[in-house]
Amino acid sequence: MIPAEEALTRLVDGNKRFVAGVQNFDATASSAKRAELLEGQEPMAIILGCSDSRVPLELVFDQGLGDLFVVRVAGNVVGPTQLESIEFSASAHGAKLVVVLGHSNCAAVAATVAELGKPEEECSKNMRAIIGRIRPALEKLYETKFKDQPEEMHKHAVRENVRACVDHLRNGSSILADLANNQGLMIIGAEYSLETGMVEFFEGVPASLRSIVEN
Ligand SMILES: [Zn+2]
Repeated sequence: MIPAEEALTRLVDGNKRFVAGVQNFDATASSAKRAELLEGQEPMAIILGCSDSRVPLELVFDQGLGDLFVVRVAGNVVGPTQLESIEFSASAHGAKLVVVLGHSNCAAVAATVAELGKPEEECSKNMRAIIGRIRPALEKLYETKFKDQPEEMHKHAVRENVRACVDHLRNGSSILADLANNQGLMIIGAEYSLETGMVEFFEGVPASLRSIVEN
């Protein structure tokens, strides 16, 4: 089993390779690797990310077959199926690291921001299952100066949504809470920049591990 600290280091290093354009396809997705995994999987991390086509998780972390247990949904929201998928993998495969990964220019977050302040009857009936999950975390942002600063509003909204998802995973599942308290499971949040390709880990990284994510 790979400890959370080691998994985080591998993700950070992999993202650096992605940004530098020095990924190694042979190491991550070769037929030899495929054969190696026939007997089972032991992914080192679970990633909850957005479905956005510009944020393919194995690519941005330069990881390959068997490395990541990936859950993707618009807005990286935590609904029942996402939560159960993460609980299943954390229990069955033993990964010690869960990362919620939001990203800049997220359309699901933008759609939610666009509905803030509107009366219920004016809100779109589509995407209820997505927007309805993002909205509670953004309500208080609408009460701040960012309300009239669209770019700043979006940036803060992306991060508030990630924070809310991390909080949901930590406090909305007795299975994950037990793994976090007794088995070294770590649940953290990060943001991927469409502009730079870099992932910034900004939520929930313990002080003792900050040096891994800060250079
Ligand atoms: Zn998105």
